[in-house]
Amino acid sequence: MEQTFQKAYAKINIGLDVLRRRDDGYHEVRMIMQTVRICDELLFEKSRQPGIILKTDNEELPVNGDNLICKAAALLFRERGITEGVKITLTKRIPIAAGMAGGSSDAAATMRGLNELFEMGYSMQELQALGVTLGADIPYCLVGGTMLSEGIGEILTPLPAPPDCFLVVAKPDVNVSTGFVYGNLRADRLTYHPDIDGIIVALKEGSLDGISDRLGNVLETVTAKEYPVIEELKELMRHKGALNALMSGSGPTVFGIFAELSDAEAAAEAVKEEGYARQVYVTEFYNGKD
Ligand code: ATP
Repeated sequence: MEQTFQKAYAKINIGLDVLRRRDDGYHEVRMIMQTVRICDELLFEKSRQPGIILKTDNEELPVNGDNLICKAAALLFRERGITEGVKITLTKRIPIAAGMAGGSSDAAATMRGLNELFEMGYSMQELQALGVTLGADIPYCLVGGTMLSEGIGEILTPLPAPPDCFLVVAKPDVNVSTGFVYGNLRADRLTYHPDIDGIIVALKEGSLDGISDRLGNVLETVTAKEYPVIEELKELMRHKGALNALMSGSGPTVFGIFAELSDAEAAAEAVKEEGYARQVYVTEFYNGKD
């Protein structure tokens, strides 16, 4: 095999709770992770020139060792003692620094792609154990779908996919660093915790209303305080017919859940027209395998 191709899907959090800050600085979480159809594309080609070469259509992103793709590739090459070369071409579509795990998903796709291209023979569990050393969301991004994520993100339990519906995903024009948000979260002072168990029951019952009624993310206490646009976006989406709306991950991306495509499209138009965000997508949950 000379080349292989992978899609890297974005995720949103239907529920995100933080239980406590551990002594080592990591946070213990309980999150419902869900992939959406928005994805990056990665092409991996063996090259005669040794080393890892990254090319991308996005000028904002580093193409050196700071990119999570290069970190993931270097990790696997080191572990397996590979001295050959690879050229990786990234087509970037997932909003950056958005709370949609774009970097983690690219890293996960890189691990899957290189495992295949260089016939490394890693099992999924082995890839996940290596991946968590680079980022807490990488074990999830390796498999995707609907999952309960616990521990620091490495304990994963598959859940039933949510019912079909439409999503409006809007990323306001501010970049939020995940480190800043977790650094400013007072996990010991949270007065509200989302009903993660209730969301799990609603998923098992296939109840879109049950899921929508329980959307919750404790990281809003940090990001939405800093950026009022987040609450304004949620309000606008609800006003435009969303069953409910929430910030994803550490933000600032907001998503709304819609039963009808026409309502979702009208809401996306309104978000753009009122200038809340330029990166606005109408999309769906994604539980496929490609
Ligand atoms: P998460 O939901 O995991 O917190 P995020 O969506 O908030 O992720 P990313 O888009 O993954 O954030 O990127 C955050 C930072 O990581 C960016 O500032 C970017 O420069 C850097 N980065 C490194 N590699 C990548 C990559 N392949 N894609 C996107 N960002 C990357």
